[in-house]
Amino acid sequence: MIETASIHFAEPHAMTTNSPPSLPTYDDVAAAAGRLEGVAHRTPILRSRTADELLGAQLFFKCENLQRTGAFKIRGAYNALSQFTPEQRKRGALAFSSGNHAQAVALAAQMLDMPALIVMPEDAPASKMAATRSYGAQVVTYDRFTEDREAISRRLADERGMTLIPPFNHRDVIAGQGTAAKELFEEVPDLDYLFVCLGGGGLLSGSLLAAGQLAPRCKVYGVEPQAGDDARQSLRAGRIVQIPTPHTIADGAQTQSIGDITFAIIREHVEDILAVADEHLVQAMRFYAERKKIVVEPTGALSLAGALHGGVALSGARVGILISGGNVDLARYARFLHD
Ligand SMILES: *Cc1c(COP(=O)(O)O)cnc(C)c1O
Repeated sequence: MIETASIHFAEPHAMTTNSPPSLPTYDDVAAAAGRLEGVAHRTPILRSRTADELLGAQLFFKCENLQRTGAFKIRGAYNALSQFTPEQRKRGALAFSSGNHAQAVALAAQMLDMPALIVMPEDAPASKMAATRSYGAQVVTYDRFTEDREAISRRLADERGMTLIPPFNHRDVIAGQGTAAKELFEEVPDLDYLFVCLGGGGLLSGSLLAAGQLAPRCKVYGVEPQAGDDARQSLRAGRIVQIPTPHTIADGAQTQSIGDITFAIIREHVEDILAVADEHLVQAMRFYAERKKIVVEPTGALSLAGALHGGVALSGARVGILISGGNVDLARYARFLHD
């Protein structure tokens, strides 16, 4: 049984080996774009006269909040799952996440007709569990105060021969996420700056691969919440810094550390990493609602908040703003806009 149940750990075992991780390249992003054609939306790019005047610049908003499942994560998830071997397909995909990655893996698995199992904290919002189940995934819950989700996930993957797809530290996931910036660079040439929301760094590292090929003069910034500036600390320290789970309204960026693959790409290519306060996220969310009539979740507002408050002189420049997602509980959203 053990012999036939091939167990695939998609996550690299950085802890047990000193060999550098194998990094994705722009070619992987281009290949991912091919796989995603007709699967992921080519999301719109919006302009805003108000924002342009405010910054004295030309801003281009890439709207991944309007992506399928409400965030860019379907790009990476589908790119990873679509490359499974027949044996892997039969056994299916497993993810641990209470957020957008869970729904993305669930939908990608449904599209590819394979089983999916999502490990979620038992106190995850009922709406998220329901959305994940609605894509046909099985949801397994755990107590996040007493149980270790990674250990549970690995045990389940092991028992069922499922392939664990991590939310960011995986070359196919990174390559898929890079396709959003690829679309932006192709439609808007000569961008001087690109601001990218940053949690574990999958979206940022994919964007950096796209920029390297399509817009080599574009300066790319990652933007993370001030309370959880582990990536900025890591960049400064030259090694991956781990922090306690940060308290921030940007729930998609509550990562304790970035990954070894994402860090290797980011440290090599990023212009800098900026950190913004939660109040600036609320301000950006209000701007989107009021001016552009779009719902952006707190994590998705990081990029604009970074452009507005990160201290980068943007006057006269062409600036890309990658909006990463729009999944926010409506009652919570209303409170942000109201307070
Ligand atoms: C996952 C997520 C992020 C962070 O992406 P990483 O690849 O982990 O850096 C940002 N915004 C939204 C909406 C997300 O779902």
